[in-house]
Amino acid sequence: MAKVNPDFAKQLTGIESAGNLNYCYQCSACVQECPAALRFSEFNPREIVLSTLLGVADELTGKNSVIWQCATCYNCYERCPQGTRPIEVVTALKNLAFQLGNAPEQISALRESVITSGTITALSDSMKKRREQLGVPKISLPEEGSLKKILGG
Ligand code: SF4
Ligand code: SF4
Repeated sequence: MAKVNPDFAKQLTGIESAGNLNYCYQCSACVQECPAALRFSEFNPREIVLSTLLGVADELTGKNSVIWQCATCYNCYERCPQGTRPIEVVTALKNLAFQLGNAPEQISALRESVITSGTITALSDSMKKRREQLGVPKISLPEEGSLKKILGG
């Protein structure tokens, strides 16, 4: 049975601005043009907001959570008539899941890459060569450790 944490919504807003959770009146406007909801039947921003409000959060911040299916497109942000901003709720949930050590490995790898090199993928020699052939300017990578200082981690 799912565990209820009545303070969860408060805890979440403490991590990052998590939208205006309390204003949600469950109209589903955020679901209509959500690409993740269209693609994955288990993903539903309205239900995520409701579960967060009710404090049924273990699954949302646990391993293999549906939150990672969000495409960060901001359609829900634009559509919500209440200014609830489901994307911000999802982002706060992702941050919490990460703190709990429950982020997917690929996401942690992307984060590490951004922190160390400023890019989400390492620049291979063939990529560099292709850029040169196309006349694209060289990418100047940040000094080692400088991003870590700014971003933490
Ligand atoms: S988050 Fe906004 S759009 Fe989505 S169900 Fe709640 S009020 Fe409606
Ligand atoms: S930001 Fe995420 S939750 Fe919002 S509409 Fe896009 S995919 Fe759906």
